[in-house]
Amino acid sequence: MSTPGSTPDGTDPVAASHAAQLSHCQEVLDRAFEYLDGEMADLDCEKLRSHLEECASCLAQLAEDEQLKQVIRDGCPCEEAPQTLRARILVSITEVSTTTVSGTPLR
Ligand SMILES: [Zn+2]
Repeated sequence: MSTPGSTPDGTDPVAASHAAQLSHCQEVLDRAFEYLDGEMADLDCEKLRSHLEECASCLAQLAEDEQLKQVIRDGCPCEEAPQTLRARILVSITEVSTTTVSGTPLR
């Protein structure tokens, strides 16, 4: 006797559609920078835009990402950190080259 494999995997259609909705939002947020960079395929752009028309939270998130991108492009607003880092790197370079040039063992 063969067992009928008619069990539909126990998938709840309501939960499935809810998960699809969520994953769509997640997809939009995951690819926000791709979209803002203009690297997204036309078809995906259209899907994303039509999703934004219905989903205010994704629209807000995308606007935030766009602002962030502009800040990055216009220059880092926190100039202190890179300068400190640069000074530290310069110091370590000097230390290394001094050691290399003098190169002599201590005794
Ligand atoms: Zn969404």
